[in-house]
Amino acid sequence: MTSYSRDEDVVVKAVVLLGAPGAGKGTLAQYLLDNYKVIHFSTGNLLRNEIKRETDVGLLVKSLIGSGALVGDDIINEIVASNLSESLSGDELILLDGYPRTLAQAKYLDEISGGIMKSVLRVIEIDVDPDVVVARIAGRKVCSSCGATFGVLDRLDCCVRCGGELISRVDDEESIVRNRLKEYAELTLPLSDYYASDRLVKVSGNDAPVDVACSVDAVFRGFGISK
Ligand code: AMP
Repeated sequence: MTSYSRDEDVVVKAVVLLGAPGAGKGTLAQYLLDNYKVIHFSTGNLLRNEIKRETDVGLLVKSLIGSGALVGDDIINEIVASNLSESLSGDELILLDGYPRTLAQAKYLDEISGGIMKSVLRVIEIDVDPDVVVARIAGRKVCSSCGATFGVLDRLDCCVRCGGELISRVDDEESIVRNRLKEYAELTLPLSDYYASDRLVKVSGNDAPVDVACSVDAVFRGFGISK
């Protein structure tokens, strides 16, 4: 884990989970939702919702999501701008999952709401080996009703949260996963440098979820965020 020196005067308002597909962001996000007062802000969920509702944006992005490619910055930034301001006005910590994914998105996020994110945003990067990712993703299932994600080791017949049907995500096939990893390295990994000087902490994601959660608890304490 990298070290982080806390500015006692700053109240952290948003945390970005940065990590390759399969790094464990979904599992970690669920742990944080269950244990902290947080709002889960997932652009993947927002997009899947648009597709389900067959909105104009949903129809536009459906084939892109199926291929594992990223949706254009303009579309994503617009979705974020229209959904994030309400969350920013509340007391809860905002957990940004899957956004930002490009430098353009990170810079856009830093300009939202008068530039507030430049001081109140922190980033947790989950480092994981590509082979671990491919093995993990191959067996991943998602609930078709509530969107909860389960790993191959969960061995479930239906969703334990709502009883919904578990299906494989269309973007979880191996060739698509490899595409997403390549794209992550090219487009998203540069964010690690963008945030490195003052807002980033790295955590190993190769370990069991319970160990990753423990590391992130320590990072949250460093941010001044308690359970
Ligand atoms: P996720 O659930 O975060 O893995 O996102 C699923 C898919 O939604 C991704 O493979 C992209 O096609 C799209 N997506 C989600 N967030 C973003 C983003 N910030 N920028 C571009 N595309 C995104």
